[in-house]
Amino acid sequence: MTPTGPSMNVSTTGKRSVLISGASVSGPALAYWLHRSGCAVTVVEKAGALRDGGHPIDIRGTATEVVRRMGILPQLRDAHIDTRRCIFLDADGSEVASLTPRAVAGGAEGQDLEVRRGDLAAILHARVRDDVEFLFGDSIATLDPSGQGVDVTFRSGRRRTFDLVVGADGLHSHTRESLFGPEGQFHRYLGHCFALFTMPNTLGLSREVTVWNAPGKTAALYAVGDSGELHAFLNFHRPQPPVDALRDPDAQRDLVATAFAGAGWEVPRMVDAMRDADDLFFDTAGQIRMPRWSSGRVALVGDAAYAPSFLTGQGSSLALVGAYMLANALASHRDHTAAFAGYERGLREFVAVNQALVDNGAATLLPTTAGALEQRNTMLRDLGTMPSAPARPAHSALALPEFAPVP
Ligand SMILES: Cc1cc2nc3c(=O)[nH]c(=O)nc-3n(C[C@H](O)[C@H](O)[C@H](O)COP(=O)(O)OP(=O)(O)OC[C@H]3O[C@@H](n4cnc5c(N)ncnc54)[C@H](O)[C@@H]3O)c2cc1C
Repeated sequence: MTPTGPSMNVSTTGKRSVLISGASVSGPALAYWLHRSGCAVTVVEKAGALRDGGHPIDIRGTATEVVRRMGILPQLRDAHIDTRRCIFLDADGSEVASLTPRAVAGGAEGQDLEVRRGDLAAILHARVRDDVEFLFGDSIATLDPSGQGVDVTFRSGRRRTFDLVVGADGLHSHTRESLFGPEGQFHRYLGHCFALFTMPNTLGLSREVTVWNAPGKTAALYAVGDSGELHAFLNFHRPQPPVDALRDPDAQRDLVATAFAGAGWEVPRMVDAMRDADDLFFDTAGQIRMPRWSSGRVALVGDAAYAPSFLTGQGSSLALVGAYMLANALASHRDHTAAFAGYERGLREFVAVNQALVDNGAATLLPTTAGALEQRNTMLRDLGTMPSAPARPAHSALALPEFAPVP
């Protein structure tokens, strides 16, 4: 259908209309809670369909309560991957320690969930797809928030007006860029680059992750369940981000291959597989830190606003909790300015303590010097002798308020 003019979604019906950009974790979660509070919700996703597969992610602490309140805990328990072992190897491939994932990352026995990102996205989507409008294969081209609502032109040519727009479009959020300016102001580079791709599971690994380290280099193979595919991860330290390579897949492959030249264990085979991979994802490790998460009628949620980086293992949990807190703030205030202020007040501290987990994650996964690696190995050996690791307080640092729409 080729639209001919703007269609009005502003609240002529009394329903607040909200456009969400991004249908991964924070987008559909926000859509669910906004629909529950009586909003008319549209989600636009630039991919042509839900993006399946993907790396395993965790749902812990306060986020577990969010998914319980959404009624999707049983499906997520069914999708739980149940990784049994994390095996750490030295540069020559010899074993340093074999630990449970809980011993490494901290967690609550029997409560934390680890699922494929694509499974989480599919479960969230299934929960809302009958109540919410999804526009796949499209995205926001321009936003004009200067009128009574936000005038949106989509890349497809559609034009519509919404009361509010929320960017749930990830670390490299286009919504953030169009409203707040270039990403560089908010992106905190953590000194590492990584490549993710899948390769055949010729090693017969099952429900385990094997992590190889040399100073400044980490290679990991993640066997999700009994899959015939491994999720491969190659990470290397680099003081400055390789800006020129970020848009050039061939340059990325060369950078990774150069960084791992001469490495032992399975690394040469991983580098070969990376060269052939058709699903290579290359990025820098980084966090998003912003002084504000909204401007006028537009707000940000999830990675777009406060990506904590994979080193915290808390990206999906922050996305789920952030979606709940934003929807709850909007449900309890008719005035969006007051709602966005309430969202920030309620969530800032939780984001800060979870983003702070990054230093611990880097020290465990990505030691950059021989001394730091030796220290890390000692810490892992000690962990192996301890009876149990406590859950990280940061995971549950927010007591979730009741969802309270104003009548
Ligand atoms: C290597 C790696 C390992 C990770 N490990 C973990 C982990 O162990 N535990 C954990 O909790 N988290 C982990 N994460 C992080 C986790 O994946 C994210 O934090 C989480 O998915 C954030 O959800 P989100 O919905 O906010 O953003 P995203 O999942 O990034 O989703 C953004 C969505 O927006 C869409 N989009 C992008 N641009 C546009 C546009 N212009 N218009 C419309 N749609 C658009 C994208 O296609 C995507 O569907 C990891 C991430 C990586 C990269």
